[in-house]
Formats: sequence, structure tokens, C-alpha cells
Amino acid sequence: MTVTIPDCAIRTKELRKVYSVRGRHPVEALKGVDLEIPTGSIFGLLGPNGAGKSTLINIIANLVKKTSGTAEVWGHDIDVQRRLASASVGIVPQELTIDPFFTPREALDLQAGYYGVPASERQTSAILVALGLADKAETYTRRLSGGMRRRLMVAKALVHQPPIIILDEPTAGVDVELRSQLWDYVRELNAKGATIVLTTHYLEEAEQMCDRIAIINQGNVVACDETSVLMQDLDQKEIHITTTNPIDELSPELQHLGANLKTPKVIEIRYQPSRLAIGEILNEIDRAGILVADLSVSEPALEDLFLEVTSKSAG
Ligand code: ADP
Ligand code: MG
Repeated sequence: MTVTIPDCAIRTKELRKVYSVRGRHPVEALKGVDLEIPTGSIFGLLGPNGAGKSTLINIIANLVKKTSGTAEVWGHDIDVQRRLASASVGIVPQELTIDPFFTPREALDLQAGYYGVPASERQTSAILVALGLADKAETYTRRLSGGMRRRLMVAKALVHQPPIIILDEPTAGVDVELRSQLWDYVRELNAKGATIVLTTHYLEEAEQMCDRIAIINQGNVVACDETSVLMQDLDQKEIHITTTNPIDELSPELQHLGANLKTPKVIEIRYQPSRLAIGEILNEIDRAGILVADLSVSEPALEDLFLEVTSKSAG
């Protein structure tokens, strides 16, 4: 068998999904998504809850039926070559779904059987070792900690050695240590050639892990680019300074820096950290003779960023 590696691990065109639940208004979860996920990337699908991230990846992994549009997975059309397409993907779902009455080894063997991996080709022990589950291999899953169950979920996604690995909100409810272990492992899989797709609603997580990011909001992809390019667009912070004394008017210099008087005692400054250092702002405040009682810096909320990106792509 010749192995051809496609340029795009995943490609969707005009992908739509409408959930019709009886007695309720239909929900249009995906409104015509065009997406290309390059082979070999760590690709982030970033968006708030309800954006359609899980729907999108579940369609790709053959867990949810699309309403219309097309999707190709590892070069296989999900309608025409459904088995090949789903065999190319290992998905770690958002919800922990683990049968408590199996041991990790049994769970992995079952999963391998489900994918038709012959016993002689199974990597069960190696996968258990890789995910730090070797010494729990024969323990009933119901006795495993949450973190170990999560790792078992990852292990299950790997049994058929798929070229594409999808993780749906992999760090939701995961402690800091497991999170960094998980990321290390994901990077390792990527270094060995796997294409990684992960969903998250944390901007920071996407920024740290992914080389490309698609931002999805209300069923639409509103931006898709290299992480560094996208971050330049989203380069904005806000400072709130509470002054000791009320102020009538800001100096022209402060106005020039983007300062606004929200109330007589609160100054708001929106700035781009890449262009302006916070020290400069504070110097200017000092020069104006303003006494600072309190100061806070906030990153814009993800929702604000969506608005920003959406208005940019519209105009
Ligand atoms: P995300 O993963 O980004 O949080 P989802 O894909 O889970 O978003 O959901 C997108 C939209 O579709 C939401 O409005 C959600 O309520 C709805 N939805 C998801 N799954 C179902 C379902 N099985 N039945 C009905 N509506 C659903
Ligand atoms: Mg989800």
C-alpha cells in the first residue's frame, strides 16, 4: 500500500449543522464552515461555549451527522469514504466517558478491536507506558483518579495510531500538573508527525500550544491564521487607574496615549502592549501630577476580541 500524505489533514466546505430537537427551536450550530487544517500542525479551534467547536470536530470524527456541506479527513470524503475517514482520526471527547468495569488494558484492547487493529499490531503496553498508566493497567477504571481517567481517554484515542488527533477541551477540569504533562505529550506526538487539533475557550492556551488558530463564534469561523499573525490583531490591553483626587481634564499627552476619563477619578487607557510599554504610560501619569490610588490591567475578554475580529473581517 502506498501512503500518500495530504497537504490538508482536514478540509471542510460550507459545513452546516442544524440540531432539531422536538418541541424546541432548531439550533444552527454551524453556519457554513470553510476550514483547512494543514497536515503536521497543532491547530487550535478557539471560541466561547456554544460556538460550535464540539459540533465541528464531532462531525469530522463521525460522531455527529452533518446537515450539509462536505468534509475531507486525511483526503477521505466523510460521506464517500466514511470508514477510512474516521479511521484517520482519534478523538478525545470533552466528556469523560469511561466504562468503570474495565481496566485500562481491557479498555484499550476493546477500542483496538473496535477499530479492527489486529492483536499482533496493538501497542497497548507502549501506550499505557507513554501515558503513565502502566502501573494501573490492571486496575478497575472506577478506582482511577480523574486525571488518570483523562489520560486513559487520550490513550483510547491513540490505539489505532491515527495521523490526526483531536482533543476537545482537553484541560477542562484538569489540574496544572496534568495539564503541562498533557501538553508535553501532545507536542511529542506532533513532533512524531501527528496533526493535532484542539478546542479551547482559553485564548492563552491556544496561543501557547497552537501554530495556527481558527476563531469560531456562533457557528462561523471569524478568523483563521498563524497564531503570531492573529495575536498581533488581538494585541490590546486596558488599564484602569483610580486616582486619589478627582480630575477635570486629561493632559493632551495622556489623551494622545489613548487615555479616557471614565469618571472624575477613573482613567481608562486602551493600548497595544507591543507598541507601548506600561512604564511610558505611568511616566506620563506621573508627569501630569496624578496620584494613583489603584491600578488594574486587564486583557480584553474573548468576546471583545470576537467583536474586534468580526468587525475587521466585515469592514
Ligand atoms: P462548543 O463546543 O463550542 O461549546 P457546541 O458544538 O457544543 O459548542 O454547541 C453549539 C450549539 O449547538 C449550542 O447552541 C448548543 O446548545 C447546540 N447543541 C450542541 N449539541 C446539541 C444537541 N445534541 N442537541 C441540540 N443542540 C445542541
Ligand atoms: Mg464543546
